[in-house]
Amino acid sequence: MSDETLQFTLGDWQWNAALTGFINIIGEENVTIVNDTVKFEEDVLEGFEEKYFEYLIRTYKKTLSWSRIVTFKDKIFAYEENDFDNFDLLSLKGLNTYIKDVKYFIESASYKAAYSLMDSEVDILSIKKELEKIKEPKTQVEFDKGKSDIVNTVKQVIGILRQVIDYCDCPSGRRYIRAKNVIYSVIKNAWNGVCFLNPQTKEKDVYTDYKTEFVDAAVNYIKSDKGKYRFQCFTCDGPMKNMNNSMGFLNGTGFDVNKKSSHVWNFENDVALCPVCKLIYSCLPAGMTYVGAQGLYVNANIDLHDALKINNKIKTEILQSGESHSAYYALVRALHENETKATKYQFVDVQVIRYENAKYRFNILSRRMLKLIVEHEKRLNSLIKSSFIENKLTFRVFDEVIDRIFNSQNLFTLIHKMLHYKLSNPLKCYFNGTHVRHLLTINQDIYQSLGGMDMDKEYYYIVKNAKNAGESLRVKYFVKNANNKLPGICYRLLNALKTSNSGNGRCT
Ligand SMILES: [Zn+2]
Repeated sequence: MSDETLQFTLGDWQWNAALTGFINIIGEENVTIVNDTVKFEEDVLEGFEEKYFEYLIRTYKKTLSWSRIVTFKDKIFAYEENDFDNFDLLSLKGLNTYIKDVKYFIESASYKAAYSLMDSEVDILSIKKELEKIKEPKTQVEFDKGKSDIVNTVKQVIGILRQVIDYCDCPSGRRYIRAKNVIYSVIKNAWNGVCFLNPQTKEKDVYTDYKTEFVDAAVNYIKSDKGKYRFQCFTCDGPMKNMNNSMGFLNGTGFDVNKKSSHVWNFENDVALCPVCKLIYSCLPAGMTYVGAQGLYVNANIDLHDALKINNKIKTEILQSGESHSAYYALVRALHENETKATKYQFVDVQVIRYENAKYRFNILSRRMLKLIVEHEKRLNSLIKSSFIENKLTFRVFDEVIDRIFNSQNLFTLIHKMLHYKLSNPLKCYFNGTHVRHLLTINQDIYQSLGGMDMDKEYYYIVKNAKNAGESLRVKYFVKNANNKLPGICYRLLNALKTSNSGNGRCT
């Protein structure tokens, strides 16, 4: 390779997310960043396909089904260490769930595709046939009675499981099963339909397929004589030979020009990428942070260092905790960390991009609302575990609150809904009065920030006074009425409140 220097500048959010992904993959130490521009030598593209998968596997390791299979060996080791002394009915149930999961994973299509690439003699699918769940006694007492027989069966099953684990954990298993895992659990959220995500792809080895489709194409392009190229890249304005690379492979963006050219002016596609930009766009999954099928990216578009810092902070929050907290929670934590440091972000408003239900959603988090999130840190944190169930779906109160703050909406309808459920269906409400009071306090602030109220600091006392008034009402009401009619009167109060408040705040 020649030692050509390449240079790219921040642009729209998707390009920015892809560019930060690209830098994450090759390592910040291998690039030069000045403000919104990154420079790097073309030799960072050597073995890029390896770096690409390595980064995604390392980042999402804990969330991969491969890890679910392999990490169980620690448990097996613990059981064996004290000869199954602590193994009880609950352990057996856990083992059976694990067996069910293992069977499901190892016969899924993506695993089967990985086996054909592995250099192992083991016939994993025939091993799978021997794997059966173990009969569970109904009670611990029954379990204890038959424990020695049960443990013998468990030991046999563990023998089979060990073969499965060793197979998945062998070098080629780590390479191909984990690559398949990240393709379907991470990459597919960002792009689809080409390369290893094209069902008709001829190349079975996903590393080779990526290399040919993206890396080789980019390297050949860099080397080529571009003197006679008459087209221009949509992203970097670089010269291009043809318009063959569309943005159609990116989810929720562009379109498949081969299917529908009628979208474009005069039936000609004028949105095409040069092979280097296409390679960088393929790094979008390494720039966004995913929790399951939900993605998040904070578009700090003035300084690339900021963009890397805040998004990697979010990634660490989400992926190192190992808990499936909401992406919002991680975002708020990252924002807090940033705000409390001496050097604050210079940007006035933060654009937050979320990927949900296969669509991108955009919010602007204003400086005002950002300040509010920081000031109410403790109150917001107390909401993390509270939730309620509506139409069989669980709603996290924290997410609901942040969502409204992002949209510059007050919390009136949310609070009303929560009180309503608390009265009508308390068993499906996982929150208490303190949580509601926190919401009311935060709401006062939101309301004021939105220009709804012009008050001094005493407004905090309104919430407190309201709570005290409510408590004395309850005491008096209980004294007068032996029957518990509290929910009834609360309903009426709530309805009265809603009617008189209908002019305030936007309904959601
Ligand atoms: Zn380009």
